[in-house]
Amino acid sequence: MEMPIPSARLYLKPEHDRPVRRHHPWIFSGALGRLEGPVEDGGLVEVFAFEGEWLARGYLNRRSQILVRLLTWDPHETIDASFWRQRLERAARARQALRLEEHTTAYRLVFAESDGLPGLIVDRYNDFLILQSLTLGIERWKPLLARLLQELFQPRGIYERSDVEVREKEGLPPRCGLLAGEAPPERLIISEHGLRFYVDLLRGHKTGFYLDQRENRHRAAAYLHGAEEVLNAFSYTGAFAVYALAAGARRVVNVDTSGEALQLALENVRLNGFDPGRVENVEGDAFQVLRRFVASGRRFDAVILDPPKFAYAQAHLNRAARGYKDINLQAMRLIRPGGLLITFSCSGLVSPELFQKIVFAAAEDAGREVQILEKLSQGPDHPIRLSFPESEYLKGLICRVW
Ligand code: SAH
Repeated sequence: MEMPIPSARLYLKPEHDRPVRRHHPWIFSGALGRLEGPVEDGGLVEVFAFEGEWLARGYLNRRSQILVRLLTWDPHETIDASFWRQRLERAARARQALRLEEHTTAYRLVFAESDGLPGLIVDRYNDFLILQSLTLGIERWKPLLARLLQELFQPRGIYERSDVEVREKEGLPPRCGLLAGEAPPERLIISEHGLRFYVDLLRGHKTGFYLDQRENRHRAAAYLHGAEEVLNAFSYTGAFAVYALAAGARRVVNVDTSGEALQLALENVRLNGFDPGRVENVEGDAFQVLRRFVASGRRFDAVILDPPKFAYAQAHLNRAARGYKDINLQAMRLIRPGGLLITFSCSGLVSPELFQKIVFAAAEDAGREVQILEKLSQGPDHPIRLSFPESEYLKGLICRVW
């Protein structure tokens, strides 16, 4: 009989067991009491309270401040192929229950910690899966995970887009490449709420498209039917612009620093049968472009603000808050009385309450009265895990500005 490999044992410092007991999936290095037994970074550890009670099981990386990512709180659940398979199946079942395929061919199949699969992201784009591995622990299981994904979902191909900076914190270099099956075409066309979009899977942002904004684009469109002119700041490939045109907005201005994204935005307008003459692309820094528009007296019926993440660490929170306030202030100055502000923040460190306060501060400075019509969050294929508040990161407000 094969002897089970004795697992390493991690004992927490006294009184550091509370988050683990509450199923927070991270153990920070500061909570480490002592580590017994040999274990390589990326390997599995058994986690015990200081007093010796078994609490949970996860994978370790001493190089990261997030020392352990927890996988199970059930002592009988061993971490083997069938564990990973069950977790993948559970995530897939949850997506099937949402019936996403009735209105999109692209969605998030696995949302890391939120789906009990810390460090793993899997997005579906038509027949292809894009995998992102964010941690050394996942890196170890990646070949198995690719095999399981192939077996469970039979995609045409699985392509890896682990070209993200956070991997540095795990001691991992960026990596892109084919994991299984056929390489995806450089560009494919996805469909979302009856609209079509080119996605550059190999070089686009994130895994190619901002899937987390799908339902918000749909919600925003409901308010844009009578708009003469819409400003879509931080437009990326113009997804909000296409929704606005489809809703009946007359003209849209896209602003983005990426010329490539703007090029694709124009192609997306054509792809959906709209006259590209209704769209103006401005390549540049939205902070400056909006100021220029204010100065030149340009006005809009609606402004959409979907900036990138401003706050990466608590230390940057003040600066991030100033950035959000400034861009929202400029936007309000551009909005005709009774017009709309559709504004987002994807910084997890900025809570929905704080974001609302920032928008209020911008309204005060702009001397405008603002009503919130709708509060938005990330789509249901990016679930927020209650025991992991960090998974709530996207928030948005649809406002009327008087
Ligand atoms: N709304 C888009 C996603 C926007 S992501 C969608 O639904 O698909 C944020 C975008 O902001 C990226 O395309 C990035 O290129 C752009 N960006 C980042 N900093 C910028 C800046 N200072 N000014 C203008 N665009 C910026």
